[in-house]
Amino acid sequence: SSPPEDLHDFGVKHVTKGLSRITEGIMMKGEGSWVTYDDGRKYLDFTCGIGVTNLGHAHPKVSKAAADQCMELVHSQCSISLHEPYLRLIERLLPIMPDPSLDSFFFWNSGSEAVEAAIKMARWFTKRQNIICMQGAYHGRTFGAMAVTKSKTIYSAGTHPLMPGVFSIPYPYWHQSNMPVNTPTAVLSDNALYQLDLLLAQQTAPADTAAIIVEPVLGEGGYVPAPPEFLQGLRKVCNKHGIMLIVDEVQSGFGRTGNWFAVTESGVKPDILVIAKGLGNGFPISGVVSRRELTDKLKAGSMGGTYAGNAVSCAAAVAVNKVMVEENILENVQLRSNELFSALNALKYDPALNPHILDVRGRGLMVGVEFGSSSVSSHSHAHEPFTTHSAASLPPDSPPHSQHSAHPSGAKHPQNMASRVAKKCIEKGMLILTTSVYEVIRFIPPLNVTKDDMKTGCQIFAESVREVVR
Ligand code: PMP
Repeated sequence: SSPPEDLHDFGVKHVTKGLSRITEGIMMKGEGSWVTYDDGRKYLDFTCGIGVTNLGHAHPKVSKAAADQCMELVHSQCSISLHEPYLRLIERLLPIMPDPSLDSFFFWNSGSEAVEAAIKMARWFTKRQNIICMQGAYHGRTFGAMAVTKSKTIYSAGTHPLMPGVFSIPYPYWHQSNMPVNTPTAVLSDNALYQLDLLLAQQTAPADTAAIIVEPVLGEGGYVPAPPEFLQGLRKVCNKHGIMLIVDEVQSGFGRTGNWFAVTESGVKPDILVIAKGLGNGFPISGVVSRRELTDKLKAGSMGGTYAGNAVSCAAAVAVNKVMVEENILENVQLRSNELFSALNALKYDPALNPHILDVRGRGLMVGVEFGSSSVSSHSHAHEPFTTHSAASLPPDSPPHSQHSAHPSGAKHPQNMASRVAKKCIEKGMLILTTSVYEVIRFIPPLNVTKDDMKTGCQIFAESVREVVR
């Protein structure tokens, strides 16, 4: 039965204004890489619900596993009893962990909760309090997770104080450190690690520092892969001072970057690994993985949660893992990634667009395109509706070229390029997201996206960039 009025108006009236959206329609159906809205319009979904539906929408094997589990057992509170899908999931995850020493699991519902649990564990294991995070990081919207989130003020503005004892260093990237474009990654890493040394000498003594938390590919902060030497440097500092290294693979994990986990590329072993999103392909599940030698020290009852490790979500996650293997998804990531990079680099080096695209970067199918102005844009909103805010905040008839900003190369560029391009893509039938406060569009297509759909996505993007630049 339909609500008493038009669905859209109903939503505007009764859904909290605290939420933002990139589209105003009502999503009715999702199938593979495509979603259908209430007006019948289909969109190619290159957001994956922010890196969640990695196997596409409603993958039949995943949905069936969840449906079957619904008929067996939906809920068995983890403080009442373990259930079989919980254990089957661990069995599937053990062999793909970035290090075999990661052998102790705790499942939660969301990434934020898992981050909170990771911080709690690090404090307990070390008997220290302070946490070091990265500038530009996103770890979630609960108070501890917000405290280590440094990507955009909107998430915590007006709600301070957050969890105390948090310090940050720059992530090794030039738009963060105000370094010249294309500064070698070794220099950026050295700079960030130097800032870490300073921090430990000036602000938080190692003996007070419980953990460093890092995303191996900065997500919200601009889709920036960490240079391996940076992660290795963090590991060394942690080893030297007995600090826990928490690696947040909520967005970068489960094949997104072409490896099961992005941290693998650096050879770095996390002390605590945080997982979510692609783990359940849309069924709410997250996890914190550590070593038994550490987690054996936890007091029974110190962890838990009503829905933590829900049976249906665990069963779905088992099916996700099986499909990833059976359907050779990591291989598809590599093939489609090559196609995506060559399409984006062709745009980058197209003289007609030069130098509007400043950078194309990423790993696998976690790819960022940074536009001309690397200066911070107060109009760029990753989760905010650029359809209704960013773009609409400009005079409707103002041509894109009417607003320019300084560019590190000295060139002039239209402002809000990322939001404008994203808005154009949506008009043309592709859902796509920007990131944080930088002029970056992020590509997060499904990991099983077909060659044809990747081609369509690249075409829509290219047309949109050309129209915005024109
Ligand atoms: N960590 C990272 C790296 C994320 O990308 C996100 C979500 N975008 C989170 C944590 C928080 O996850 P959730 O939204 O499920 O709480």
